Parts: sequence; structure tokens; C-alpha cells
Amino acid sequence: MSQNISDTYASQLQQMRTEVLAQLRAQRGGRVGRAESAAEARESASDDRATAETERDLAFGLEERESAELVAIDDALKRIADGSYGLCIDCGVAIAAARLHANPTALRCVACQEKAEQA
Ligand SMILES: [Zn+2]
Repeated sequence: MSQNISDTYASQLQQMRTEVLAQLRAQRGGRVGRAESAAEARESASDDRATAETERDLAFGLEERESAELVAIDDALKRIADGSYGLCIDCGVAIAAARLHANPTALRCVACQEKAEQA
């Protein structure tokens, strides 16, 4: 893979990273201290504790998924740095450019990904 193409993916990945971080920050900051949600919480305070717990679980799940995405992005950036980016981790074949473009954190070629998902 040529340097120019790697640079394109690197900047795309950096941009994804920034977006995921912004989402995580919005979730953390956005939920606490907002006047509306405080008012809502007061209104439904007598309702039940279960609803609040479900909402917390939901928020945690989101963060977990986005943290996983962040790890995948960092891995891809590492692979760009060491020159293994764009090669299938299972069979070593070059992953199709269209696939990488749609999913810059892809680790496997389509055939190996299908096998991995079936396993
Ligand atoms: Zn493969």
C-alpha cells in the first residue's frame, strides 16, 4: 500500500476517533446537570427505581460499544504505522479498497470475515 493511500486512511481514522470521543464526552457530560433531565427525574421519582437503572445500563452499553470502536480505530492506526494495515489478519491478502473505505477498521478480507462470523 502506498504512503499516500495510508495517509488517506490515517486521516479518516483520526477523524472517526475525534467523532467517537466527542460522542463519549457528550454522553457523559450531557446526562448530568441538564435542567430538563433533572426535572424529569423529579417527576418520575415516585415511579420506580428500575427505569433509572435501565437507563443507566443503556448509557453504559453505549459507552462500551464506543470504547470498543475506539480500540479498533487505535489498532488500525497502529497497523498503518507498522505497515500491516489493509492486509487480512487471517490470510494476509490485501483487503479490497472499497471494503476499507466503507470500514477503515476492517481486520479481515470479506471471505475470512464471513468465516470468523460463522465460527
Ligand atoms: Zn482473509
